[in-house]
Amino acid sequence: MIIILLGPPGAGKGTHAELICKRYGLFPISTGNLLRERMSVQDEFAEQIANLMGTGELFPDEIINQITVEAITNSLNMPDYKGYLFDGYPRTTEQSEFLKNFLAGINKKVNAVIVFHIPDDMIVGRITSRRVDRKTGKVYNLKSLPPPTDCECDLYQRIDDTEAVIKNRLNIYRQQTEPLIEYYSKLNVVHNIDASCVLENTQKNIDEILSCLDVELV
Ligand code: AMP
Repeated sequence: MIIILLGPPGAGKGTHAELICKRYGLFPISTGNLLRERMSVQDEFAEQIANLMGTGELFPDEIINQITVEAITNSLNMPDYKGYLFDGYPRTTEQSEFLKNFLAGINKKVNAVIVFHIPDDMIVGRITSRRVDRKTGKVYNLKSLPPPTDCECDLYQRIDDTEAVIKNRLNIYRQQTEPLIEYYSKLNVVHNIDASCVLENTQKNIDEILSCLDVELV
């Protein structure tokens, strides 16, 4: 089973990706997380990643396709996963074409694309109050999902979660990623959800979609 979460930054894809993977036994592939993990090595390449990510621009397709293939290849030795959940990939038509061809080579195809819909004004509010725990990588929101009071978290704000950068990320989403909704609609795999409601309701909608696809809980 191959599932893609598609939607603008701040729509909650990362939070739901984590929940879905745990509940349904899917292997998570978040290209944003893979890039941030690489950034912690603190070498020249990590500096280049930080510089580009801080602008909100997309990384070159070849680099992103390569780290995705590496993540899939590394996961092939892990027998317990029932499929893959992509969060933040593909983001361009070229990436989706690449993914299609790569999956065809291992006898797989994209089974579902869940599209998160949320108004722009909510996105800015959500993103500027988003914080990540340096120790666990867990994502919190100071307003809607604060860390537990006894949490010994080391919270930080992502370099691209500022109001100035988010406007650019949104423009890029509209220009380069949103057209993928039509691309996948033609393949009849698109499922739309309202991501502006509280987490539990969005999760319920996702569960309904996955149960129709016969994806089983672990
Ligand atoms: P995310 O964590 O998905 O919001 O990604 C953070 C940043 O990493 C993006 O704004 C891009 O700069 C870069 N990035 C992540 N995934 C991709 C992708 N599929 N294609 C190009 N750039 C990406």
